Amino acid sequence: MELTDDIKKIKGVGDKSAQLFNKLGILTVSDLLKYYPRDYDEYKLPVPINEIREGQVVSVEGAISRLTSKPGRKKIVTCFVSDPSGACKLIWFNQPYLVKMLKPGFRYLFRGTVKRDNAEYCIQQPKMYGRNEYIKLLDHLAPIYSLTKGITSNFISKAMAQVIYEYKPEEMLSAAFRKENNLMKLSDAVKTIHFPKSKEDVLLARRRLVFDEFLEFILALKALQKNKIEEKNGFRIDDFSSSDDLIQNLPYKLTGAQIKTFNEIKKDLSSETLMSRMVEGDVGSGKTIIAMLSILSVVKAGYQAALMVPTEVLAKQHYNEFCELLEKYGVKTELLVGSMTAASKKKAYERIQKGETDIVIGTHALIQDGVVFKNLALAVIDEQHRFGVNQRKSLKEKGLKPHILSMSATPIPRSLSLILYGDMDLSVINEMPKERLPIKNCVVDTGYRPTALNFIRSEVLKGHQAYIICPMVEYSEDTDGENVVDYTENIREFFQMAYLKEPTGKNIVVEYLHGKMKPSEKNEIMEHFALGEIDVLVSTTVIEVGVNVKNATVMMVENSERFGLAQLHQLRGRVGRGKWQSYCIFMKGAEGKDIDERLDILRTNNDGFKVAEEDLRLRGPGDLFGVRQSGEQSWKLADIYADADLLALASAYAKNS
Ligand code: ADP
Ligand code: MG
Repeated sequence: MELTDDIKKIKGVGDKSAQLFNKLGILTVSDLLKYYPRDYDEYKLPVPINEIREGQVVSVEGAISRLTSKPGRKKIVTCFVSDPSGACKLIWFNQPYLVKMLKPGFRYLFRGTVKRDNAEYCIQQPKMYGRNEYIKLLDHLAPIYSLTKGITSNFISKAMAQVIYEYKPEEMLSAAFRKENNLMKLSDAVKTIHFPKSKEDVLLARRRLVFDEFLEFILALKALQKNKIEEKNGFRIDDFSSSDDLIQNLPYKLTGAQIKTFNEIKKDLSSETLMSRMVEGDVGSGKTIIAMLSILSVVKAGYQAALMVPTEVLAKQHYNEFCELLEKYGVKTELLVGSMTAASKKKAYERIQKGETDIVIGTHALIQDGVVFKNLALAVIDEQHRFGVNQRKSLKEKGLKPHILSMSATPIPRSLSLILYGDMDLSVINEMPKERLPIKNCVVDTGYRPTALNFIRSEVLKGHQAYIICPMVEYSEDTDGENVVDYTENIREFFQMAYLKEPTGKNIVVEYLHGKMKPSEKNEIMEHFALGEIDVLVSTTVIEVGVNVKNATVMMVENSERFGLAQLHQLRGRVGRGKWQSYCIFMKGAEGKDIDERLDILRTNNDGFKVAEEDLRLRGPGDLFGVRQSGEQSWKLADIYADADLLALASAYAKNS
C-alpha cells in the first residue's frame, strides 16, 4: 500500500465509510496515519462506589437491584448497583432489551461516565463487561479519535492496524541526533501514537511527532523567507491626513500602545522596503482599528487593500464596521465570502479587477483563483494564528507582493515569536482601553446553573445580552457534555417559566449557533444578535474568534473543564468590550482538584499572558493528557507553550541543515 493511496484501498473501507473518513479530512492512507488520537481511554480497576465523582469515567462492580423500565420516547432503563461502600443509579436510553438481560441480585461490572442526578450521582449509558473480559483490558490504553456520526474509534483503529505495519517512512534524522535529543524513530513514533503500550510510550512518540511538525513548519517559513530579500516598496505613502482625521473622529481615544503600533506601521509604509509586520495584542486590546487606519492610509493613496479573516461571521462584522466608520472618506468596501452566489462573486471579481473596489474584506475566498487585484498594496491577516503558513504562501504564489500586516491575540513570549514569525517585524499592543472595567469571573458547578440563568435573565432585563457556550452541537451517544441544540430548548423553557412567574419582564429570545450550520444561517443569527434582536446566544466555540458585540455582558461556558485555558480566555474576550461591567461564568461539568486549579487561573487573571504562563507552570512539560492549551488549528499535536523546547530544537536543527 502506498501513502498516496485512496482510503478505499484499505480492507473493510467501502464507499460509505470512505465518505465518513472524508468528512474527517481523511482522503488517503497518509491522512489516516496523521489522524492522531485526541486522547486515550485507560481501563482501571473498579472503584468503590462512594468514591465516584461527576465527570469521571469509572468502573464499578456490584450486585444490581430495582430494575425498571419506562417505555416513552427515550425508552429509559434504570437500576441500582451496590457494593460494600454504597450504591448508585445506572441509566440507559434506547436499550429496552436490557430489562430482559440484566438479572437482579447478580453481580456485574459497569463502566461509564458519572453524571449528577439531582443530589445523587448516577452513571449514564454504562457498558457492561464480564470479569475475564475486563481483566484483559486492564491498564490498556485505547485511542480515542475525534469522530463523526457513523464512525467509531474502534473502526479507525482497525483501519489503522492494516496500514501501520507496512508503513516505512523515510527517516530524516541521524541516529546520533535522535539519541542525543531523545527522539524516537519516525516509524516507531507513528506506530506508538496509535497503538501505545503505556503513557510513557505516548509521551515519547508525541515528542518525535511534535519535533517533525515544528520542523516542517520552520522549513516552510524558511522557503518563504528565501525569496524575500528585502522587497522594494513600490507603494510608498507619506500622506496620512485621512487616518489622522479618522483618529480625531473616533468615539474614543487610542491607547498609547495603539498609537505606537500605528506609528510603526506608518514608518513601514513610507520606507523603502515592503512592510511585513505582526501585531500582537490580547483580546479586546483594539487591533481592528489599527487595521482600519492602515487600510485607509493605503486606499487614500490610490491603492487597494484586503482584510482576510478566518470566518464569515467575522468578515461580515468587520465589513459593517468598516462601512460605518469609513463612510465619509468616500472609499468603496466589498465583502467576499464563500457563501455568496457565483453570480455575485463574479460581479465582485470584476469590480476588484477594474479597481472600482478599494477595500476587500473576506475569508480565504479572497485568495482564491478568480480574484485579480488591480493594485493591491496591503493585505491584512486578522487572527493570523488561525491560518496556517499556507495561506501566507498562497498570497505570495498569486504573484502578489503587497505590504503584509498580520494580527494575532496569541500571547507568546518574544523568543517564540521570533521563531514562529521570524519573517516579520513585531509590534505589541500591551495596554487595554482605559474605560474598561475588569471582567468579574466565577467558577461554579452545575448545581449553580439555575442561579446563573436567573442572573443572565436579570442582565437581559437591563438591556444586555449573553453568550452561553456548550462543547457539543447535538446529543451523541459516544461523548457526553452539554449540547447546543438541547440546551437551547431547555433554557427557552426555563426563561418561559420565569416569565410566567414574573410577567413584568420581557420574554427572552434564545437562539443557537454552531459550526454545522450553513454559513448564511450563521451570518444571519450573528447579525440578529449584533442588532440586539437575540438576547441569549447558545453557541459552540465558533463564536470564539474575534466577534465583537459591545452590549454583551455575560459569558457562560458549560463544561469549561473541556477547553484549553487560552481558548477559554478567547471566549471570555467576547464580553467586556464596552463600558459596562461584564461577567464570565465558568461552569464545571466535572469535579477534580486539577480542574479547580486550572480554572482558578482564569478566575484570578484577566491577562492573556499571565494565563498562558500560569497554565504552563501548573502543567509542567509533557502533560499530554491535559487539555490542549492553545486551541490553535494550525498544529495537530504541538503546543507552542508546552513544547517551546522542541520548537527551539527544531529551529536550531533547521539552521544547521
Ligand atoms: P481585538 O483586539 O480583540 O480585535 P477589537 O479591535 O475588536 O479588539 O476592539 C474591541 C472593542 O474595543 C471594539 O468595540 C472597539 O471599538 C473598542 N476599542 C478599540 N480601541 C479602543 C480604545 N482605545 N478605547 C476604547 N475602546 C476601544
Ligand atoms: Mg479582533
